[in-house]
Amino acid sequence: MARGLPKVKPITGVKHIVLVASGKGGVGKSTTAVNLATSLKLIQPEKNIGLLDTDVFGPSIPLMMNLHDTPFLTKDNLMEPLVNYGVKCMSMGFLIAEGAPVIWRGLMVMQALEKLLRQVYWDSIDYLIVDTPPGTGDTHLSLVQNIPISGVILVTTPQSAAIEVTKRGAVMFQKLKVPIIGIIENMSGVKCPTCSSNIELFGKDVSALAKEIGTEVLQKIPLQQEITTSSDKGVPIVIARPDCEEAIAFRNFGKKV
Ligand code: ADP
Repeated sequence: MARGLPKVKPITGVKHIVLVASGKGGVGKSTTAVNLATSLKLIQPEKNIGLLDTDVFGPSIPLMMNLHDTPFLTKDNLMEPLVNYGVKCMSMGFLIAEGAPVIWRGLMVMQALEKLLRQVYWDSIDYLIVDTPPGTGDTHLSLVQNIPISGVILVTTPQSAAIEVTKRGAVMFQKLKVPIIGIIENMSGVKCPTCSSNIELFGKDVSALAKEIGTEVLQKIPLQQEITTSSDKGVPIVIARPDCEEAIAFRNFGKKV
């Protein structure tokens, strides 16, 4: 190995690491990560599920998982994850004052990431779902170079602009030899409240992209106001409305991972 390159090292106690990534922000990446983690716990309650938020500048997990405390330290100075809905969570948002802006240079971000990867007492985790920042940048590269990744799930809306950047992200992961598990097509349409027909708000679908990058569309999740409202209250839709179409879609997706 070339001098200076970091070495891939497992996270103590963690079996499988799955990244959730997107080309651009606002497409529902964190929503997907949160609902995937909680779905996995609902589907396989005997498994230990972790959720790691590596978006240092815009952490969403504290709000979406309704976790606002500061983690305790173990006697070995490791941070104890906070737990809700049976999912162990860690986020930079637990360590900085709520609402405070993070104005850090690259090196500080990398140090923060190192803390999140190596200084957490996960104990025993079967699946660690990692919510990544939007785009493809230093954080993604560092994750891939430092920890063994089982695969990545790409989240996109069917809008051309989002699909285009998702493709770039896919190429990056392929170059880094990270298996692409599949694509989540989020906000894939909205149901007309009067006639119930599907309105393709952002475009038709992402199947052409899936074909091009040699993967599959794992699930299509419609645009639904309740996803936003429950998410803002810190309750993932799979918990808030387990029987609704969108929650079932997220659970089906969990079964495929
Ligand atoms: P990202 O992580 O890609 O930036 P988020 O998961 O934070 O995106 O989602 C952005 C906003 O869109 C949030 O307010 C979220 O609640 C909302 N949202 C995500 N997916 C859906 C959906 N399918 N229907 C309705 N609102 C959604």
